[in-house]
Amino acid sequence: MNIRFEKNTAPKEKPQDNTLGFGKIFTDHMFMMNYDPENGWHDARIVPFQNISLHPAATVLHYGSEIFEGLKAYRRADGGIQLFRPLENIRRMNNSAERLCLPQIPEKDALEALTTFVRTEAEWTPHSEGTSLYLRPFMFGNDESLGVHTVHHALFVIIASPVGSYYAEGINPVRIMIEDEDVRAVRGGTGYAKCGGNYAASNRAGERAAQKGYSQVLWLDGVERKYIEEVGAMNVMFLIGDEVVTPKLTGSILPGITRKSCIEILQKEGYKVSERLLSVEELSNAMKDGTLKEAWGCGTAAVVSPIGELLYKDQKYIVNGGKIGKLTQHLYDTLTGIQWGKTADPYGWIYKL
Ligand SMILES: *Cc1c(COP(=O)(O)O)cnc(C)c1O
Repeated sequence: MNIRFEKNTAPKEKPQDNTLGFGKIFTDHMFMMNYDPENGWHDARIVPFQNISLHPAATVLHYGSEIFEGLKAYRRADGGIQLFRPLENIRRMNNSAERLCLPQIPEKDALEALTTFVRTEAEWTPHSEGTSLYLRPFMFGNDESLGVHTVHHALFVIIASPVGSYYAEGINPVRIMIEDEDVRAVRGGTGYAKCGGNYAASNRAGERAAQKGYSQVLWLDGVERKYIEEVGAMNVMFLIGDEVVTPKLTGSILPGITRKSCIEILQKEGYKVSERLLSVEELSNAMKDGTLKEAWGCGTAAVVSPIGELLYKDQKYIVNGGKIGKLTQHLYDTLTGIQWGKTADPYGWIYKL
């Protein structure tokens, strides 16, 4: 792939690591390429970070044809930069694209786009403990017509944002509300695709949870509202007795790469891990009889996020005394050790730039 480079002649001042937050500051450049049926993907370019101009009838603005990914570039102690399982993100993006009838990107081109872009913005990868360069690849339909049909023209973009440590103030367990009214996804729908529309449909329940003082929603399945699915932007796992239970991928759950990595670590270390249906009734029984030992969410942004409290039908349950559990901490240490290159990577997950 030929990537044209247009240098930003007015680069910004780099922020202090302790002011970063999440997704508010962007780097000096962005990657873009266009798709149309005659030319396929073309005009790959890294250009100064800028607004995107769209036709007012562009498909994405009316019919929501949009997918995205999220991954991080990590700064190692030796100064080098590495990615974590980037091919998993690329494959998932193509699966999301397939669901929304957006065009596929050959894996090798997507990887080249990602790595060339990260190398261009290397200086923006922060150095402090727990910080990283968050990468946001996304794709949307931009046909210039209001006709409802599959997408013929698309744009693929990658932007990057240096992000602070998620746990700058220590790992504090989160309070989660089990949502029994709105649903996020149904089998046959777009639950397994990382698409913006899933988030748009989630916001109402998220707002309601926030009003009650809960940071995120735990979704139940969209048909029976009986089985646990996932949390906001994280998959979810429970230690019940000596079994780690995580909802199986039924089509309505996002197949998280952190989820997959946690399962692989736990299996390798000899834990009993079950990907299965978990009813909210089984979960509340386990909370009542004390067999629920730990609960945590897992996703790229927070890595592993302990759940300290669950609310279900106005009944509050405290998990592990509201503190992070041993296994949750172990998973956090193992994953972050590999991601930042502090410990060996026996899994072959690291992609060094
Ligand atoms: C991105 C995302 C996750 C987590 O996926 P990771 O690959 O682990 O970052 C979980 N649930 C939803 C809805 C997501 O969008």
